Amino acid sequence: MDYPLAGKRVFVSGHRGMVGSAIVRRLEREDCEILTAGRSEVDLIRQSEVEAYLARTRPDCVIIAAAKVGGIMANSSYPADFLYQNMMIEANLVHGAHLADVNRLMFLGSSCIYPKFAEQPIVEESLLTGPLEPTNEWYAIAKIAGIKLCQAYRKQFGRSYISAMPTNLYGPNDNFDLTSSHVIPALMRKVHAAKVSGAPSVEVWGTGTPLREFMHVDDLADALAFLLARYDEAEHINVGYGSDTPIRELAETIMDVVGYEGEIAFDTSKPDGTPRKIMDSGKLHALGWTPRIDLKAGLAQVYEWYLANQPDADVAAQ
Ligand code: GDP
Repeated sequence: MDYPLAGKRVFVSGHRGMVGSAIVRRLEREDCEILTAGRSEVDLIRQSEVEAYLARTRPDCVIIAAAKVGGIMANSSYPADFLYQNMMIEANLVHGAHLADVNRLMFLGSSCIYPKFAEQPIVEESLLTGPLEPTNEWYAIAKIAGIKLCQAYRKQFGRSYISAMPTNLYGPNDNFDLTSSHVIPALMRKVHAAKVSGAPSVEVWGTGTPLREFMHVDDLADALAFLLARYDEAEHINVGYGSDTPIRELAETIMDVVGYEGEIAFDTSKPDGTPRKIMDSGKLHALGWTPRIDLKAGLAQVYEWYLANQPDADVAAQ
């Protein structure tokens, strides 16, 4: 498939979030028209608003970067929000796009769609072969439904709707709220605060042994632009970095980047979540795309962003 982005009108939903804002930055390098809409203009949970917006703006392509997202604690504390909001956002956008005759759509999921004990690295085919990790099953079920929606509209109506499954992401505009964030912004904020206050140690949840695969969101956005231009299959495709890192090592790297020399205090009353979650991204790599931003360089870039935006990032997180 050849789908040049030049000249296309692309609606990026969720453009204020970490992923959506990275996609906008990346698409600005293509010769396309980018459409965005704040929540006051279109509330993605409201079907009539989404349908009216798409009928009025008539994009050529829709990217579903909007989602209710959160870390391990948020997911298990707000199951209704995660399941309901994500199902509504994706159902409204996929169906609304179809009604507005939008023939190209990209849906974004997450590596948590895969079974807790899937063989690692996780291949696309392991979807729905076993039970999910309970700490984020609500989000995962919604995201699995999103993949199936794209497949259903492809099958029934011949739509070129595709799904990409990113690994754990980090980058500018991440959520730095300690109760709802993912591990990287949480540790960056905590380590920075410990350095500033001269605290002897910094708290890291769990045992430090779980392994996670991390990708900078600018790499993700680049992979998505690549896929949008040439991928057109029903099967979802993994977008991963290719190697994983124990949480203890991640914490040490962040301490290094921040310049903090205290100790790590593991809080084992907090959950570890799934022991390992690395995806097999061989299919994407075989198409000719590979990531460029290594973890330490990416963390250093995000720390710079955090320092430049910290008062806002911390307040936005309240
Ligand atoms: P997950 O990949 O869905 O489990 O999402 P997270 O990014 O929230 O957590 C990844 C791992 O980092 C888990 O094992 C957490 O227990 C661990 N972790 C360590 N410290 C923290 C922290 O301060 N916040 C978060 N969210 N996770 C932490």
